[in-house]
Amino acid sequence: MTATNWQYAPAPESRDIVDLRSEYGLFIDGEFVEAQGGATFKTVNPATEEVLAAVSEAGAEDVDRAVAAARRAQTDVWGPMPGAERAKYLYRLARVIQERARELAVVETLDNGKPIKESRDVDVPTAAAHFFSYAGWADKLSHAGYGADPRPLGVAGQIIPWNFPLLMAAWKLAPALATGNTCVLKPAETTPLSALLLAEILQQIDLPPGVVNIVTGAGATGQALVDHAGVDKVAFTGSTSVGKQIQRALAGRPTRLTLELGGKAANIVFDDAPLDQAVEGIVNGIFFNQGHVCCAGSRLLVQESVLEPVMGHLKRRLGTLRVGDPLDKNTDLGAINSAEQLARITELTDSGVDQGAQRWQPECQLPDRGYWFAPTVFTGVSQSHRIAREEIFGPVLSVLTFRTPDEAVTKANNTPYGLSAGVWTDKGSRILWMAERLRAGVVWANTFNRFDPTSPFGGYKESGFGREGGRHGLGPYLAV
Ligand code: NAD
Repeated sequence: MTATNWQYAPAPESRDIVDLRSEYGLFIDGEFVEAQGGATFKTVNPATEEVLAAVSEAGAEDVDRAVAAARRAQTDVWGPMPGAERAKYLYRLARVIQERARELAVVETLDNGKPIKESRDVDVPTAAAHFFSYAGWADKLSHAGYGADPRPLGVAGQIIPWNFPLLMAAWKLAPALATGNTCVLKPAETTPLSALLLAEILQQIDLPPGVVNIVTGAGATGQALVDHAGVDKVAFTGSTSVGKQIQRALAGRPTRLTLELGGKAANIVFDDAPLDQAVEGIVNGIFFNQGHVCCAGSRLLVQESVLEPVMGHLKRRLGTLRVGDPLDKNTDLGAINSAEQLARITELTDSGVDQGAQRWQPECQLPDRGYWFAPTVFTGVSQSHRIAREEIFGPVLSVLTFRTPDEAVTKANNTPYGLSAGVWTDKGSRILWMAERLRAGVVWANTFNRFDPTSPFGGYKESGFGREGGRHGLGPYLAV
């Protein structure tokens, strides 16, 4: 198998269009301030291991300052402000994200390692779309189905992961702000930079001080936010294990909670599916964003009669994927976000080999520096293998087979998770039959990984509870 059929000239996006500072403070009450304890941590470019900036690490006293600022802003300014006025800020924010899209995309790619074509074409435009969409709700809350005059909860503490840093910030901030809440946002420790650039944009649009506060740091900072008695609502996106800890910490307290956690989605291909299209969907399902996607189609279920053509086509297609410099516009697969994540992927894939599955990777040259993992496909996978049960959160696909629709449903639902699923078939009736039976918050049909701000997203079982997006995403921020 040859790695690629042709060569592309390099087409790097310029990193000079961003003006990164060497140090960043916390964003509290409209200003960048140092952490009271003076602690900082470094954020690196995972593609090169270059240090990008030193970032303040918020302690409990900084979180306290941020929550106090958010409370003042909620009571005095943002809460009493008419929805139509709040909407103007959200529209302005969406427009400035569009204006500064190129800069935001480069920062996201530098800090996260994802290909520039994904940050440029997915992360940044979808983040802007969320602010546009929720701006439209701000003056229409009395028509949203939550009563005549639904009230905000107050101060929201929001904790997000590193896989879609700006987009997850938008998913959290947009509905909270539209409904009149104020926010304390904690970005992930390996990807704080796009949130800090967003803070500069909040200053640019003259958002009243304290309406959004950003506290950077690791798990301890997140825990301080969860533990703070002044937080009325916690919205968490991240791993199931941390989600469970947060649920335990909030037990017995009146704080509202939504959890968007992990997944192990089944992507199900029937023998009547358009196979070329299905293979593109399989590739997109698991190799988009290096597989660092909660709803990734990481378990491929193929009807046994078409296993051979599907695998042949899939392997040929994977041979054409370009892995490397995330800033190159031709790159399909960028860097793994951190050394820790790379170690986790390596450990889980090794377990696949140890437990008897067959590992396949296309020929591809990985860069010498940085954190990299070649696209990987496992066949001969059984349902008891760890690679079929645990979330790998990397570019690794586990292939299983089925014979009947009932068997496909049973295998797809045989997981503690329930975030998403995909169905590939020519028959509309089969799509509906499957969608009724799959225990997943989102079921895509003849497509995968599609996101829209008007569409609710969220999980069943250990994938969490609560919905983000659309009208449904307003409810968790309203006192109803
Ligand atoms: P993680 O749970 O380790 O971290 C997520 C965030 O929580 C980070 O900001 C982290 O600093 C913070 N955190 C860590 N420990 C904490 C604690 N004890 N208290 C409070 N905050 C704490 O997850 P991760 O590795 O950053 O992200 C990957 C996970 O996120 C995967 O499981 C993925 O499926 C999930 N995810 C889910 C969705 C969704 O919408 N369901 C979206 C993206 C990612």
